[in-house]
Amino acid sequence: MSEHRTTVAGVAVDTRHWIGGQRVASPRTFTDASPIDGAPIGEISRGTAVEARAAVAAAKAAFPGWAATPRAERARLLHAVADGVEKRTEELANVETVDNGALLRSHRRGVMPRVAHNFRFFADWLLTLEHEDFATRGHTNHVTWDPAGPCVLITPWNAPLMLATWKVAPALAAGNTVVLKPAEWSPLTASLLADIAAEAGLPAGVLNVVQGYGSEVGDALTSHPDVRRISFTGSVPTAQHIAASAAANLTPLSLELGGKSPLLVFADADLDLAVDLAVEQYDNAGQVCLAATRLLVEEAVAEEFTRRFVAKASRLRQGDPREESTDIGPTIHPRQVAKIDGFVRRALAAGARAVIGGHPGEGQYYAPTLLTDVRQDSEIVQEEVFGPVLTLQTFTSEDDAVHLANDTRFGLAATLATGDPERAERVTARLVAGTVWVNCFFVRDLKAPFGGSRHSGIGREGGTWSFDFYCDLKNTVTAPKGWKDHG
Ligand code: NAD
Repeated sequence: MSEHRTTVAGVAVDTRHWIGGQRVASPRTFTDASPIDGAPIGEISRGTAVEARAAVAAAKAAFPGWAATPRAERARLLHAVADGVEKRTEELANVETVDNGALLRSHRRGVMPRVAHNFRFFADWLLTLEHEDFATRGHTNHVTWDPAGPCVLITPWNAPLMLATWKVAPALAAGNTVVLKPAEWSPLTASLLADIAAEAGLPAGVLNVVQGYGSEVGDALTSHPDVRRISFTGSVPTAQHIAASAAANLTPLSLELGGKSPLLVFADADLDLAVDLAVEQYDNAGQVCLAATRLLVEEAVAEEFTRRFVAKASRLRQGDPREESTDIGPTIHPRQVAKIDGFVRRALAAGARAVIGGHPGEGQYYAPTLLTDVRQDSEIVQEEVFGPVLTLQTFTSEDDAVHLANDTRFGLAATLATGDPERAERVTARLVAGTVWVNCFFVRDLKAPFGGSRHSGIGREGGTWSFDFYCDLKNTVTAPKGWKDHG
């Protein structure tokens, strides 16, 4: 490990920024540690406003060339990036696991293939992007998508490369250039992505990566007048800060934020399926924005549901995320463990009962926890914990269920377990949520919109919605030949 590179899981990773096609070091570094055992794994360049401005300048310089690159060529290069991701899936999966502690088997089988798919999907979509013309009094209205300019993309640590490429791929496909700022707790795969993009032949300055703490590098990026889009995934307070910073230039924002999503279990549900869906919420140690952390169960089946839930959850194996048999890995950082435990302590002090868990484990592991006897207006029900902590409340009617489900400041997702399709339709129509899953969880086509309402965010990403965000739409109205406006 040096101040410029490190080797993680046998993979060499450059720990400097990637700006204008060059590796750039900052005078200072910060230490990146693995959540698996807390061991240092890299000295990462600690960006400041200097590197932030240099990256925006590089993105600005590269923009005209990339925007003018024919769609087919942009698509070809994005497919080449996807090829590089596929070639290095094993390396990316291993590095990501050591860096953020999520399961290696998920990274191998689900996450990294999805990363490659993000590039392929938006490359292909780009080639089909067309809007029908409208005719008005003989005039043609022709709508086109113009790339917006340099985009700043800021991402969190819980699914680092997956969430980064979910922004990078459409932004680049649309003809924009990009400055990516990965989270300081999981900075490594963004650096590998820069290598892959360079190997794929992406021109210098089209993709830039700036490392560092959000508080030190963020404002210089988000208040920069040359930045034409900001896409952020992270917490509500950071989003509020970024929105204020972007307001100076009226820079359009897309915000994907936190949640406190419900899982509604009706008495007519397949109870084993409902239990599977509930236990699934411990995936990634609960560090999932979409996680349905509030279990709302119809009173008639609550006792049986809880019995089966406890039986299943007790069989979960917590441990090293590199082991095939592990179900739950560590949480990202000692600070996150303390934060989770703070929520649980306060809930217990307020009268909650821990049906399982309720305490930290060894190191950065937190015991999967289920709390009952919680009040609707309590902190544990209203605020996002971002750890393996679920609450269970009961309801007695559909109205009651919908009221509890909607009664937070968030609106990211909701999951229903019910055997009655008509009920599913009725309840879905009343829920405030960007995504509703009925008898399933986490499945989503990239063509569909993704995002949240209220404090869960602004805007939608996916399919056409991504292109709408990353482009300036233009309507060109052309008069018919010989037209004279006498009006
Ligand atoms: P965070 O807000 O602390 O950090 C996210 C990113 O913002 C990091 O890269 C960080 O360095 C950067 N940042 C921090 N301060 C900044 C500033 N002043 N200016 C610019 N950038 C700044 O969030 P986190 O703790 O990394 O992530 C967890 C949060 O993300 C949770 O609330 C979770 O729900 C949310 N999340 C949402 C989604 C979604 O799609 N809705 C997905 C994953 C995570």
